[in-house]
Amino acid sequence: MHQTKYIFVTGGVLSGIGKGITASSIGAILKAAGYKVFMQKLERYLNIDAGTMNPFRHGEVFVLDDGTETDLDLGHYERFIDESLNRYSFVTSGMIYYDVIQRERKGDYLGRDIQVIPHITDMVKEKIREGAAQSKCDVMIIEVGGTVGDMEGTHFLEAARQMRREEGAQNVMFVHVSYLPYMEVTGELKTKPTQQSVMLLRSVGIQPDIIVARTEGRIEREHIEKIAMYCDVLPEAVIPAPNVKTIYEVPINFEKAHIGEIISKHFDWKNKKPDLKPWKKLVQLINTEKPPLDIALAGKYTSLEDAYLSVTRAIKTACYYLHRRPVLHWIDTEKIEEGDKEEWKRLKQCQAIVVPGGFGKRGVEGKIQVARYAREQKIPYLGLCLGAQIMTIEFARNVLKIKDATSEEFDPSAKNLIVHFMPDQHEGRSKGGTLRLGAQECRISKDSHAYRAYKKTVVWERHRHRYEFNNAYKSLLEKAGMLFSGTSPSRELMEIVEIKQHPFMLGTQFHPEFTARSHRPHPLFKAVLEAAIEREKMPTKK
Ligand code: GLN
Repeated sequence: MHQTKYIFVTGGVLSGIGKGITASSIGAILKAAGYKVFMQKLERYLNIDAGTMNPFRHGEVFVLDDGTETDLDLGHYERFIDESLNRYSFVTSGMIYYDVIQRERKGDYLGRDIQVIPHITDMVKEKIREGAAQSKCDVMIIEVGGTVGDMEGTHFLEAARQMRREEGAQNVMFVHVSYLPYMEVTGELKTKPTQQSVMLLRSVGIQPDIIVARTEGRIEREHIEKIAMYCDVLPEAVIPAPNVKTIYEVPINFEKAHIGEIISKHFDWKNKKPDLKPWKKLVQLINTEKPPLDIALAGKYTSLEDAYLSVTRAIKTACYYLHRRPVLHWIDTEKIEEGDKEEWKRLKQCQAIVVPGGFGKRGVEGKIQVARYAREQKIPYLGLCLGAQIMTIEFARNVLKIKDATSEEFDPSAKNLIVHFMPDQHEGRSKGGTLRLGAQECRISKDSHAYRAYKKTVVWERHRHRYEFNNAYKSLLEKAGMLFSGTSPSRELMEIVEIKQHPFMLGTQFHPEFTARSHRPHPLFKAVLEAAIEREKMPTKK
C-alpha cells in the first residue's frame, strides 16, 4: 500500500518569522528531488474560509482553481512548489467545527456527547488524510497556523501528535521554526526562547525532528550545538535560517544545510539530489545589477505589501525575467482624487500602471482618474478585476461621454451601469461564498494584446468578483475603440477588455496574479512591462 509521508511545520516564539516560506521551501526541495508534494494549511480561526476577511488586516485573499478563498500562505505554496492546490489544502477551525456539528445534527454521533478530543481532533486527522488521499502525494507538508502555546492551536497539535502514533514515527516528521533574538547590548544571540518553545511543544507530546533557526544575522556553531543539546535534536538537524535578500534563496540555503538528506533519512528514502537550477537562476537574476523600472500600483491599501502580495510578486518576477529591477510606487488613489500634487507627481514618474482588485467605493474616483491619465498619455496599464471595471467606466465617461457611467457596486441607483450585478450568475446577496469564484475558461480572440501575450486562444484564469460588464454597452464601447478580446465560451461574460489604439491598456475580469509562478512569470504581467520597456525607446514627447 502507498504510504504517504507527513511533515508538520510548527512555529515558535513569534509569529511572522517565515513558517509559510519554510514549509514552501521544503516543498520546493522535495518536488525538485522528484517527489509528488501536497501542501495543507491548518488555520486557527473560526471563519469557514478567508472570503469575508479584510485584506488590510489579514493580507490578501488567495483564490484557488476550485474557488476556495484562502490566505496568502497558499500563494507561497503554489508559487514555490509550482502546483495548483485545491480545497483540501485549506482547513480552518471553523470548517472543522462546522463539519462536526453537521454530523451531530444528522445523528452520526447518536448517544454520545461531542468533545474536542476525540471528535474535533478526529476531524482534523480526517482532513489531513483526505488531503493525502485525493492528491496521491508521496509527501504532504502541513503548516500548523499560529505559534505553539496558543490556545487556538491545541486541537491541531494534538491531531498531529496522534498522526505520528497512527502512521508510524518513520512516516511523520516535525519541523519547528523558531526565532533567536539578538541582544544588541551584549552582542549575543539568545537560544532560550527557542528552548522554551520546544518545551511547549513537548508538553503536548511533540518532539521536533528539525529546528529551523531564524536569525537576523549569522548563527554560530556554538548556538547550533546549544539548540541541539537542549532541544534534543541532532546538530545537523538545526537548520540556520538567517535573513535573506530574497525569499527565493531559502530553498537553496536549506539544501546547503542538507535538509533534503535529513528528511530522506527519516523517511527511509534514497537520498535524491534536488535540481535547484531554476531557483539559482532566479536568485542570480535578482542579484545582478540592472536598470530600474518604475511601476505604479494604484490601490486602496498603500504600502501594504501583504494586501496585494500576489500582485507584487507577479510584477516583480515578471520584471526580473525582463532583466529589470522593479521599483514599486504605491499610489494612494484617494490622494489622486483630492488632486494631491505630490501623489500625481509620483504617478507621473512611473512607466507602467497596475490597478489591482478591490471592493467598495473608496478611492474609486481616483482610480478612474489614473485610468484616464494612462489612456490619454499612452502609459502601459494593467487592470485586475476592479481595475478592468474602472478602465471601462472611464472610457464610457470620457470617450462615450456617458457622464454618469459607473458600477452598480458604487451607485446602484445610477442610470448607466456599465458594470452591473447579473442575478443569474450568483446564488444570492449573502456575503460568504457567493462571489463568482475560481478558474473559468476564457476564449481569446486573435489580433489582440491578450493573444499576443498569451499566444493561446483558450486560457483558464481565477475569478473573485460579484459584478460583470453590462453587455448592453458592449457594441457602443467597441465602436469607440474598445475590444473585448476575452470572453466566456458562451460569449455571455466579458473577461478581457483592451483599448485598440494604445500600446498596452488591458483589463481582466479575472486575477492573473494568482497563477503567476516563481519560475513562470504571467504573460500579461510580462506584456505590460514589456510595453513599458518598449516605450522607453521612443523619443520623449512633450
Ligand atoms: N468589486 C468588484 C466586483 O465585485 C471587483 C472585485 C475584485 O476586484 N476582485 O466585481
